[in-house]
Amino acid sequence: MIGMAVGDALGHPTEFQASLASIRARWGPRGLTTFEAAGRHPPGTFTDDTQMAVAVARALCRAGVDDIERLMRVMAEEFAAWARSPLNNRAPGGTCIAGCRNLARGIPWREAGVKGSKGCDAAMRSPPVGLYLAGDRTKLRSVSAAQSTLTHAHPTAIASGVAAAAATAWAANGGALDAIVDATREAVQAITDDELLALGASPALVQRIGTREMLDALWKVRDRASIEADDVCELLGGAWVGEEAVACALWCVLRAGGDFREAVLRGANSSGDSDSIACIAGAIAGAHGGYGAIPEAWARGVEQAEALDRLARSLFEASEARGPVRLDASTDLFGAEVLGLRPDDEDLGGDDTEVDSAPDALRSFRASLLPRTEEEP
Ligand SMILES: [Mg+2]
Repeated sequence: MIGMAVGDALGHPTEFQASLASIRARWGPRGLTTFEAAGRHPPGTFTDDTQMAVAVARALCRAGVDDIERLMRVMAEEFAAWARSPLNNRAPGGTCIAGCRNLARGIPWREAGVKGSKGCDAAMRSPPVGLYLAGDRTKLRSVSAAQSTLTHAHPTAIASGVAAAAATAWAANGGALDAIVDATREAVQAITDDELLALGASPALVQRIGTREMLDALWKVRDRASIEADDVCELLGGAWVGEEAVACALWCVLRAGGDFREAVLRGANSSGDSDSIACIAGAIAGAHGGYGAIPEAWARGVEQAEALDRLARSLFEASEARGPVRLDASTDLFGAEVLGLRPDDEDLGGDDTEVDSAPDALRSFRASLLPRTEEEP
């Protein structure tokens, strides 16, 4: 969890730098080597990637995984709270906001996701599922696929959510790095067309694409793991879409031989979706090497490090217990509770009558719940 946030924060300033040359022109010949400010955000600030992963982790802690309907209901609530929070000011994906808006309106979770979108958001927030369900492949697949479809219902997005969780789980279980791509592919291969259809994916896309794009991207990683490149995106794509984000992250981890620092800096110094690549790479390399593998200045210096640490411990505790655990108030990283942004379970429909009786803060955040196109790439 800390590794993920650290990678995300490192890649934050470079997300919208269009080339490695422009990164080097700004931060020196070695590119970015540590936390840097990103616009108005101070060094160490993570982005929507970690925020959404925090929402996933909180939902796992609050609901457990035995009842998928309950888990998705709680996760929808966490997503909607994040979408409304004033801290949601870090270039969130338009599709995520559209999905969250659907969830807040009470649209059933299997229908809330955008059918044609395979943005990498489903993958970048999936590592906590891999940590929680590292010991249960079947459940890992169904839960990581389900969390994807809350906002992204394209079969490739769903497959990328499964892939990111499976790779993290493999690393957390101490699996050998040279087998991580095969293990990830196995998890993706196990997704059936019926599962994709049951999660609301379009029948035409399931028939035409299914899990093929994700599997192809994983083949490319294996193929190109022996090729050196300064910019991973030149080899495996810009990572704005799920299959490329997972592929780029795995490549960074493999080229770094599992070394945390090198893996995340390779992701951060890339021409594509740098924060998401470094976020997923940080999750995998962090799970592989453990907390001690993360440079201390980063592990302690990342935004809300203590709250993340507490949430990570709760996630572990919940995973061991395989049931809900009580979350410390400090793990409410978006201030949702304070602002009254997280409604009671009964209120999750988010219908108009609730808006009328909502506190001012909630009403204005509701009003601001629009796709932030001006911050999109
Ligand atoms: Mg981001």
